[in-house]
Amino acid sequence: MRLRLARMHHPVTALGPGRRIGIWVQGCGIGCPGCVARDTWTAGPEHDIEVADVLAWCAERAAGTDGVTISGGEPSEQPEALAELLRGLRRIDPDWDLLCYTGVELDEFRRRCPDAVAEIDALITGPFRITEPTDLLWRGSANQRLIPCTPRGEQRYARWAGAVREHPELQLQVDDERVWLIGIPGRGDLARLQRVLRDQGIELEGVSWRP
Ligand code: SF4
Repeated sequence: MRLRLARMHHPVTALGPGRRIGIWVQGCGIGCPGCVARDTWTAGPEHDIEVADVLAWCAERAAGTDGVTISGGEPSEQPEALAELLRGLRRIDPDWDLLCYTGVELDEFRRRCPDAVAEIDALITGPFRITEPTDLLWRGSANQRLIPCTPRGEQRYARWAGAVREHPELQLQVDDERVWLIGIPGRGDLARLQRVLRDQGIELEGVSWRP
């Protein structure tokens, strides 16, 4: 089974509790205005990777990892690969919590991904709406809901459902002359980031939040 993959990161600390693996899928047909991950919209065979290879990469990073965050891109556009990925992650460490972002609402996610949904501990649902800024933890706009889906999800996520972030939680990872931003930027954060990098002599040639 193949997954269309954008990239993987570890450790991720800005999207979910603890120290995590981040798996960003490739391909999203939702097209939210203001999306900061426009580079993940278009998917092709060049993004294909065996789910087994993704799982092997995750297994190498299992020590000290608390959970996995899956985002993108739109995970619900690859329901079978997503279900296989989730089942494999569960086998690597049954105690990991599995958090998944989706740009659709819960009912639509269930309809699209009936097998995957049973494996997910918590979902963050709904499209990004640039007109509804928010300080809600791990969310990009006020309409997005954090929904615990399992007893583990209830235990680890219920207390965060209405929590607000005290400061922007953003990580930068540098790889192959690219700077990856992990987390949810607030208003003005991206322009500030470009200014800070420019002051350090780093000019961004292209960014994922503009066409
Ligand atoms: S915010 Fe998410 S759902 Fe919306 S266009 Fe971007 S990747 Fe797709």
